[in-house]
Amino acid sequence: MFWTGELIAKTAPVRRRTVAFPERSPQLDRAMAAYVGLAVGDALGATVEFLTPNEIRQQIGVHGNLTGGGWLRLKAGQVTDDTTMALALGESIIAAGSVDARAAAEAFDAWMRAKPVDIGNTVRRNLITFRQTGQPEAAASEHDAGNGAAMRVLPVALKCYGQPEKTTKIAIRAQAHVTHHNALSDAACDTLVLMVQDFLAGRDAIEVERQRAGQLVAELPVFAYDKKRRDNPSGFVVETMQAVLQSFFATDNFEDCLIDVVNRGGDADTTGAIAGMLAGARYGYQAIPRRWLATLDQAIRLRCEQQAAALLAPVET
Ligand code: MN
Ligand code: MN
Repeated sequence: MFWTGELIAKTAPVRRRTVAFPERSPQLDRAMAAYVGLAVGDALGATVEFLTPNEIRQQIGVHGNLTGGGWLRLKAGQVTDDTTMALALGESIIAAGSVDARAAAEAFDAWMRAKPVDIGNTVRRNLITFRQTGQPEAAASEHDAGNGAAMRVLPVALKCYGQPEKTTKIAIRAQAHVTHHNALSDAACDTLVLMVQDFLAGRDAIEVERQRAGQLVAELPVFAYDKKRRDNPSGFVVETMQAVLQSFFATDNFEDCLIDVVNRGGDADTTGAIAGMLAGARYGYQAIPRRWLATLDQAIRLRCEQQAAALLAPVET
């Protein structure tokens, strides 16, 4: 018998790299989880982007692994524009030392030149206008109510953590209006940033829903998400937010939230990314399933973790 070694290799316990970082502050742990959660949700959802829930059921059953594929023919664990635009924005914030519209516009422009795997129509149109005019703020438009500014807003939430709401909202507008100058997009961005910051501070989900989601719906009733189940959410930011908020507040752990939201189909990489960001901030790093962390593009995972640490300035006590 010559295969004893192989048997041992097959049965020896697999030593996994630990994902717990006890020396991290709770805020940093949640910030990293939000960023990696964004990437995990993007990679998970991209496989089923533009499918209907029925098509997903027929083709896959319940979609719950980072298998790649989809209309973009991705590698397993590969992310799309939702994550790479956030990373481009985050780099511009770290380099500039603040959220700056021109720095963000230039970063997005460089990102577009590098031929990303996917790009939203509104993003493309307004970045081409930026190239022509040099003006980093797009003109206000009713047509710009896509989810493209909301999906990449996380670096602003981290950079502005601990700052007054007014300052934070100015920063939110600066990044968002480069490509999406629209009141519905603004309202979604505000809600997401404030929710992430609430969870970094350890606030309770019931309170966060009442205050942040409640305020969004009170101010703009079109966002109401308590009635009909939102399947096939489009890139319209209202539909995206409805699907995300339904999944996020109806589940009590990271995995269930992401599986629920991406199996609704539609703009699933973006609902996955936004839900992953919120769920990471709420549940922390250890709540992200190991199998998703292991399959996620590791270079992307590292950049997300490093940016989270660089953007989250130490809060003075
Ligand atoms: Mn995408
Ligand atoms: Mn998408």
